[in-house]
Amino acid sequence: MGARREAREALAVAGVRPKKRWGQHFLCDAAVAHRIVETARIGPRSIALEIGPGLGALTDELAGRAGRLYLVEIDPVLAARLAARYAENPRVRVIEGDVLALALGTIVTEPGVTVIGNLPYNVAIPILFALREQRVRMPHAVVMLQREVAERLVARPGTPDYGVTTVLLRAFADIRLAFRVSRRSFLPPPRVESAVLDVCWSAAPRADLGDEAAFREVVRASFGQRRKMLRNALGALARDRGVDLESAFARAGVAPSARAETLDLDAFARLARALAP
Ligand code: SAM
Repeated sequence: MGARREAREALAVAGVRPKKRWGQHFLCDAAVAHRIVETARIGPRSIALEIGPGLGALTDELAGRAGRLYLVEIDPVLAARLAARYAENPRVRVIEGDVLALALGTIVTEPGVTVIGNLPYNVAIPILFALREQRVRMPHAVVMLQREVAERLVARPGTPDYGVTTVLLRAFADIRLAFRVSRRSFLPPPRVESAVLDVCWSAAPRADLGDEAAFREVVRASFGQRRKMLRNALGALARDRGVDLESAFARAGVAPSARAETLDLDAFARLARALAP
């Protein structure tokens, strides 16, 4: 594959060996790259932020299409390479740094930002939680991550993949699995398969969660012992909060014998409100 040879050569020229700790698996499939950019619907009015551009598999097309493009890359050698490549393009700005440590809201000040990235898989979930915090400014994200994790995030209630992360992210987002990508599309190939998610954040929660921290606590405790009935999983939390558990279930319209994985977002929201201290 031409793209694979190009990536290998680019690494050799830059003197870079793919680093595991930064999840460096470079996309070598132009059709997949194009499909990601298409899914993100990037056009001349778009403000785009690419996380982990690496060797730039997605970047040239993004730079050609977007009105403004921010690139955040942790690897100093790759960041310098990108800065040189786009030095003449005033619409592209390269930021060397850890996306989880940067104050994204102060770097990208425009509203309506679309985030794109073939994410480092080891920190994909923390990155999604960080993006959740930026959702007002950055309402749309198209990101590639480990397929197994992607499937968890789109799982329906009542299936084994449905869990804490699913509920906490989907409380603020409509998440769709856009398409699957083979591990053979990368250099070096990761051990796992990949998938692209299309995430549309909403500024307000998608159900009346009540106090957000208290909601998170209820969701975590419910799944903490996922094989247990909710009556048992939530006993300690209700005691700590001084709430009568059985009447909280009744107010929420949730069966005490139900298991966490069967509750949809609305049911969790009702339960969290009924369990408010
Ligand atoms: N976008 C490129 C592609 O599709 O070929 C590279 C994808 S590779 C899976 C992940 C990229 O994210 C690498 O370039 C890596 O150096 C970068 N990276 C890893 N951790 C990062 C972090 N915390 N902040 C910013 N970039 C990071």
